[in-house]
Amino acid sequence: MSDPLNLLDLDRAAAEALVVRLGARPFHGRNLIKWLHKHGVLDVTQMTDLPQGLRTALQQQTRVHLPEVVFTQPALDGTTKWLLQLPDDQRIEMVHIPETKRGTLCVSSQVGCALDCSFCSTAQQGFNRNLSPGELIAQVWLARHQLGKQLTNVVLMGMGEPLANFTAVVRAINLMTDDLAYMLGQTRVTLSTSGIVPALYRLRTASNVGLAVSLHAPDNALRDQLVPINRKYPLEQLIPACRAFVADDKRRKVTWEYVMLDQVNDTPEQARQLVRLLSQVPSKINLIPFNPFPGTRYRTSSPERILAFQRRLQQAGFITTIRKTRGDDVAAACGQLVGKVQDRSRRQQQRAQATA
Ligand code: SAH
Repeated sequence: MSDPLNLLDLDRAAAEALVVRLGARPFHGRNLIKWLHKHGVLDVTQMTDLPQGLRTALQQQTRVHLPEVVFTQPALDGTTKWLLQLPDDQRIEMVHIPETKRGTLCVSSQVGCALDCSFCSTAQQGFNRNLSPGELIAQVWLARHQLGKQLTNVVLMGMGEPLANFTAVVRAINLMTDDLAYMLGQTRVTLSTSGIVPALYRLRTASNVGLAVSLHAPDNALRDQLVPINRKYPLEQLIPACRAFVADDKRRKVTWEYVMLDQVNDTPEQARQLVRLLSQVPSKINLIPFNPFPGTRYRTSSPERILAFQRRLQQAGFITTIRKTRGDDVAAACGQLVGKVQDRSRRQQQRAQATA
């Protein structure tokens, strides 16, 4: 027999469908969502406005599973990294990044990642599995119910490639933005992707979230090496897909993430190439100082090189920011999230064999 349904896996539409199947009216499904997410009540017996018969059926046929918080680790700058344990002993990380007027939660979408970007430590851990919608939204549940109003924004920028876990991610986004649940405006939820082109087109029809794209190189030859999914979906496919994503709203822009790797992608010529590449897309560029991790062959560009690169892009008219490195003393910064992936040893073994 399969495991009973986890109520946290349901978005509004799925909750309505479930309660109808159990003989109740759709609005009880909406109330169920409110109890779980707005009020944070996970015990069905306490959901006093659901009919008794529905409560009994839910109790018998479903469960609510929240990951266990293994620990929370505060960094010196106020950032907190959380290590969460899933029922099959997999572990994922999430990070809360407080700023003066907002607090951003960076959530994971997969245990590990399959994409193997050469500068990312999550990639080194290999891929284990997708998170369920309930495991995705549980991260927001935990943060909201512990941090309250300090949580104003969510970025899908933790471990994993969100567009490779499409259905679960869309369900979780539905809950993040639902008035019955977390009420985050669509501009307050940002999905970061390495550029899975068909899924980008699908996402546009499913949701209106902010889009960040891990670009990291201005040409295919270099991007093939840094972000290997580029071999499947090269820039001539990626750029039009991103342009289409923001096309029907003049206020929307694609945020391009560009990790600054010393002498690899940070030259004046590469800045010029980037300007040409992005000239037809409403863009913001976010330069990310590379966060090192054990065993990496890359170094971060010097502050002078990053500033010079930024100036070139700004002079060409692009809004260009430099991402502040947060939480790096507890390895909570971009590309440093590793959780604990069961098959870590497998990829490390393959690497060792490949270089032997
Ligand atoms: N797979 C998605 C979501 C991960 S987002 C994506 O690729 O966008 C994590 C962001 O941090 C991405 O832009 C990623 O490229 C960047 N990143 C990864 N490793 C990094 C590192 N070591 N230093 C700085 N940024 C890194």
